[in-house]
Order: sequence, then structure tokens, then C-alpha cells
Amino acid sequence: MTDTIMIPDLKGKRALVTGSTMGIGAAVAKALAAHGASVAINGATHAERGQAIVDDIRRAGGTAELVMGDLSKRGEPEKVVAAVADAFSGLDILINNAGGIINRTLIGDITDDFFDQVLDLNIRALVMTTKASAAQFRKNETGGVIINTTSIAARNGGGPGGSLYASSKAFISNFTRSMARELAPDNIRVNAISPGTVATETNLKYHTPEMLERTRLTIPMQRVGVEEDCIGTYLYLASESLSGYVTGQVIELNGGQIM
Ligand code: NAD
Repeated sequence: MTDTIMIPDLKGKRALVTGSTMGIGAAVAKALAAHGASVAINGATHAERGQAIVDDIRRAGGTAELVMGDLSKRGEPEKVVAAVADAFSGLDILINNAGGIINRTLIGDITDDFFDQVLDLNIRALVMTTKASAAQFRKNETGGVIINTTSIAARNGGGPGGSLYASSKAFISNFTRSMARELAPDNIRVNAISPGTVATETNLKYHTPEMLERTRLTIPMQRVGVEEDCIGTYLYLASESLSGYVTGQVIELNGGQIM
């Protein structure tokens, strides 16, 4: 993002972006830092890329920490949130972005282990990271903000072999509404962003060029998204001044692919 209008109330906010060593999370984490937030980069893979993001932010005068951790493992969300809160003396913003399809698997091939893997990553990790972060936000006079990354798959059932992924994202969309209601008295806003097709490295791994082209033709804006397309909506929801009265919403971010 260049020539950006600064969002003043993000300055000094302490943010954890899960799954931010690459892809959408990395783009959002860099943008938060550019607006003056302290940012914790997290991931289960690509630590060297995460460190490079941290180094860039620090070189530009910002504050960043790399807190690696596989959030799908029991106990890890609590450890990651505690490490971030220790490093920044608290937490204001949680972006629950880590997630993925793991494999395209049709119903006949779904095993108990695969079921656990997909749901542990997309659901349990997000629930436990939310729980640990809400406890941190309650210590703040100003509460906190949670933004969950769901998916267009939550509404359309996903692509071939993506049933568990799509269903776990539907859980996230609804969990967002439950948490918005439950945490509102603590001054914690909870919203979700539902990207359509964003050409991240991982997305390109699971889509052939033919699949992507077929998808492109279904998008009124006639192009698939790129990571930068996502940034503004995350910043909007993170900012009290821009979205302070918005909670419990799932914002579709897809070039019109689903309206
Ligand atoms: P990506 O694969 O590029 O990046 C994933 C990040 O999550 C990496 O940093 C990785 O290390 C981290 N991660 C993976 N498993 C983890 C775990 N167990 N614990 C902690 N971190 C973990 O992802 P992306 O394509 O940028 O997607 C980001 C989010 O957006 C995901 O939740 C994805 O489901 C969702 N989404 C993506 C698209 C798309 O088209 N790319 C569309 C809809 C929704």
C-alpha cells in the first residue's frame, strides 16, 4: 500500500495476526504495521519469511515480533497469545487468519485423522485463540477487536473435495455472530471477512489455471483477487474510528462473486 491515508487510531495498537508468515495474513500484518500498530507475526511454516517481515517493519521504525506456533496443537493458542501479550504488554487486536483446506478429499476418502486435522486447524485453533485473547482484551479499558477470516466456501460449499474446509468456515461465520453477542458487554467487537478467490501461493497450489479461469468468469469484476485487495477491509474492521459500531458482520470480499 502506497500513498495511504493514515488511520490514526491504529497507531500504538497491539495486534496478533495468525497465519501471517505469508499470504493474506502477511499483507494485513504489514499494513497494520504501516499504520503504526505493533504486530505479532505468527505461522506454523515459513519462519524465515516471517522473520524477514519483522526485520522490514523494524527497519522502518515499527514494532514487530515473530511468534511461531502451530495453533492446531492443543495448548499452543494459549502459549502464542501469552507470548504476544508479554512482548507488547497486552493485546488490542486479534486477526484469526490461520486456516486452510489441507487437502482436497472426497467423502469416501475422509478419515478420522483428516477430519481432526481440518477441524483442529480451522475451528479449534480459532476458538482457543479467541478465548485466550478475550481474556487479554478484558484487561483493557478500550476492550478489543477480533477479525476472523472465513471464506466464500462457507456459503457455496467449496470446491471439489473441500467439504470439511467449507463447513469449518461456515462454523467460523456463525461463531463470529455468537462471539459478537457474547463479548459486546466487554467492549469487544467481533467480525469476519470472507474472501472469494485470492491468488495466494497456497490458493494457486489447489487450483489449476483452468479452474482459476472458470472461477474468474463467474466474478462480475472479471478478475480473481490479490492479497492487496484484502487489506482495506481488515484495516476498516480493526479501526474503532472507522467501524466502532460494527459487530457480528461477515463482509464478503470477492469482486461480486457472491452477493
Ligand atoms: P496461506 O496458505 O498463504 O498462508 C497460511 C498461513 O497460515 C501461513 O503463515 C502458515 O504458516 C499459517 N498456518 C497454517 N497452518 C497453521 C497452524 N496450524 N498454526 C498457525 N499458523 C498456521 O493462506 P492464504 O491463502 O493467505 O489464506 C489465509 C486465510 O484466508 C485462510 O484462513 C484461508 O482459509 C482463507 N481464505 C483464503 C482464500 C484464498 O483464495 N486464498 C479464500 C478464502 C479464504
